[in-house]
Amino acid sequence: MFERLAVAPPDPVFGLLEDFRADKRTHKVNLTVGVYQDEAGQTPVMQCVAEAERKLAEQRASKAYLPIDGAASYNRFLARLLLGEQHSAVAAGRTVTLHTPGGTGALRIASDLIVRAQGKRRILMSDPTWANHPQIFTAAGLEPLPWRYLNAAGTNVDVESLLETMEQTRPGDAILLHTICHNPTGCDWNREQWRTVLGEVQRRELIPIFDFAYQGFGRSIDADAEIVREFCAGANEALICSSFSKNLGLYAERVGSLTVVSRPGAALPPIVSQCKSIVRTMYSTPPAHGGRIVELVLTEPALRESWLAELATMRERIDQMRTRLVAELAERVGRDEFSFVAGQRGMFSYSGLSADQARQLRDDHAVYIVDSGRINVAGLNEKNIDQVANAIAAVAPARV
Ligand code: PMP
Repeated sequence: MFERLAVAPPDPVFGLLEDFRADKRTHKVNLTVGVYQDEAGQTPVMQCVAEAERKLAEQRASKAYLPIDGAASYNRFLARLLLGEQHSAVAAGRTVTLHTPGGTGALRIASDLIVRAQGKRRILMSDPTWANHPQIFTAAGLEPLPWRYLNAAGTNVDVESLLETMEQTRPGDAILLHTICHNPTGCDWNREQWRTVLGEVQRRELIPIFDFAYQGFGRSIDADAEIVREFCAGANEALICSSFSKNLGLYAERVGSLTVVSRPGAALPPIVSQCKSIVRTMYSTPPAHGGRIVELVLTEPALRESWLAELATMRERIDQMRTRLVAELAERVGRDEFSFVAGQRGMFSYSGLSADQARQLRDDHAVYIVDSGRINVAGLNEKNIDQVANAIAAVAPARV
C-alpha cells in the first residue's frame, strides 16, 4: 500500500529550516521561520513564563485530562484579552471560547465548523498569505479564493483588488483577515481601509475569520485588537483565532484559542457542541501546560506587568532592526529601493526579492529567507546585519 504513496511537498517554511540546520557554513543566518530571536540570536524562555513555570512546579496540578474545550477559566480570560474587559458581545453571552493547540489548531477547528454550518464554501484569502493557510482550509474542504494583497509595485496594500474579488462571493462564504502584522508582507490596512473592507464583509454576509497570531506585536495588546472589538460589538458573526506562540514565546507548548462570536439571539449550544465534536475526533482534549502558564501570566499582576514589558522590548527591537536594515540597504543600493520596508510592522518584512534571489541569498551568501521574499526581521542583530545587507545588495543591485 505505502509503495504507491507519493512524496508530499516539503513545507515551504519548515523545509527550509531543515536545510538551514544541515548547512555547515558557520556564518549562516536564519531569517526563515517566524520565531523571535534576541540580540544574541537566541529564542529565550520569557521571564514571566519561567516564573509562572516555577510556580506551576510548586503547585503540581493534576495531569488529568482538561475538558474538550479547555479549562473554563482559561477561556474566560482569553475572551477578555481578545475583546477587552467589558465587551458587549461577551456581556450579552454571544461568545464561545475554546482553548486550542496554537493558532493552527484554532484555524482548523474554525474551518471544520464553517464546513459543518455552511457546507464546502469558498474562503477569500490574501495572496500572499502565511503558507499554511491555504493548506489548512483546503484540508477542511474549503476552496481558497485569493485576492492580490499588494499593489503592482509590491510596496503597499491594494484594497481595490479585494473589493473586486469580493464580487465573486456568495453570502456565507468566508474571508480570512490578518488582524495585525500581516504575514508575510508586514503591511497592514489603516483604519479607514479596515472599515471599508468590514463594511463590505457585512453587506455581502461573509463570515470573517480574524487570524490574530501577533496580538501585541503591532502597537499593544489593546490597540492591536481595536478593529476586531469594534466589529464584534455590532450584530455580526465572527471567528477569532489567536495564539501565544509569538507574544508569550510559547511556540512549542501549542497554546491558543478559538472564539466564535454569534449574532444576537443565536443559540450557543449548537456552536459549543459542534466545536467539541470536532475537537474530540481530532485531538480529543487540549494540552494543559501552556494554558496554565497563560492563566498565571494573565491573572497575577506582577507576571502580567513583566509580560507586557518583555513584549514591548521584543516589539521595539524588531522595529529597530527594520529601521537599521532599511538604512543599511539605502547606503548600498540607493535610498528608494527598500524605503517601503520602513512602513511594515511585526515580525516580518516583505523584501520584494524573488524566489530566484532568495535562492542566491542561500546558496551564495548563507542567508536564509523564504522564497516569497519574506524576511524574519527578528532574526537580525548587530552581528549579522552587515552580512545580510551586503548579501541583499549583491543579489538585488538594481530595482527589485
Ligand atoms: N497565523 C499566522 C499568520 C501565523 O504566522 C502563525 C504562525 N506562524 C499561525 C497562525 C499559527 O501559529 P501557531 O500554530 O504556532 O500558534
